Amino acid sequence: MARDQFIKRNPLCIGCLAAFNDPVPTEVVDHVEPHKGDTAKFWNSELWQASCDWHHKTVKAQLEALYAQGRAKLADLWLNSPRAIKLSLLLKRQG
Ligand SMILES: [Zn+2]
Repeated sequence: MARDQFIKRNPLCIGCLAAFNDPVPTEVVDHVEPHKGDTAKFWNSELWQASCDWHHKTVKAQLEALYAQGRAKLADLWLNSPRAIKLSLLLKRQG
């Protein structure tokens, strides 16, 4: 299955590596750009990223909300982007 192969090749959350230098297992294959049911986008593995549950629920959720409001760029939605790293550090401090 594509998802399992992706996790095998990308076993660690890219956000945790980038922001905390912490190897955390991939729990979610995140779609960088929200696919909203678009199957072409859904299966485009170029736009998949390895994420832990925490990054998916907190950092990515906030970035997607900003993106939907036109306040973030697609490049910001990568969990290892400068913006995502900044947000990760901020949210981690808040617990
Ligand atoms: Zn993470």
